[in-house]
Amino acid sequence: MRIILVGPPGAGKGTQAARLVDHFRLPHISSGDMFRSAIEAGTELGKTAKGYMDRGDLVPDDVTIGMIMERINQPDCAAGFMLDGFPRTLPQAEALQESLASAGISLNAVVLIEVPDSEIIRRVVGRRLDPQTGQIYHINFNPPPVEIADRVIQREDDTEVTCRSRLQKYHSETAAILSFYDDLGLLRRVDGNCSPDDVARSVIRALS
Ligand code: AMP
Repeated sequence: MRIILVGPPGAGKGTQAARLVDHFRLPHISSGDMFRSAIEAGTELGKTAKGYMDRGDLVPDDVTIGMIMERINQPDCAAGFMLDGFPRTLPQAEALQESLASAGISLNAVVLIEVPDSEIIRRVVGRRLDPQTGQIYHINFNPPPVEIADRVIQREDDTEVTCRSRLQKYHSETAAILSFYDDLGLLRRVDGNCSPDDVARSVIRALS
């Protein structure tokens, strides 16, 4: 099964991806996580990506496409994968489509998790990450346990200003990929403005 999860930053793609990976036993490929790992490892890719990410801009297509193509050609992706955060632009969607078609394979579905902007801002600004486990919390909706409260961090790109800029970019650039996948009959829309369990049920229903 080859699935793409699409949605604004903070829509719960990461949370849903973790559940779907368990359910369908697929490698979870998150372009944002790959960039963050590259930054932490101090690689050339990380150095290139950091400036764009800190400003809330998208990393250029050629860099992003190269990174993802290399990843989905790894043996663990032969039977399928779940992409999270990629593609975000039409050239990225076209490059992926071309690459899959030339390998004689195709996508099963593109799941769009829909959440209103006002709700996204509330979620993103309160989001905290435990750097040791990768677990995501929210200061109001899902506070971290007291024993780890001191070590949770706010991602540098989770401020309100950066969030608004990312949402603006999401709407202007990502909208094009939605009609691209809609035209291919692959787009499945899911209401993301409810509990993670309810969203997970809707996503699994949309994929079955
Ligand atoms: P995310 O964790 O998916 O919210 O991504 C964090 C940041 O990584 C984004 O704001 C972009 O700067 C960069 N990024 C992630 N995925 C992509 C992509 N497909 N194309 C361009 N930039 C990306």
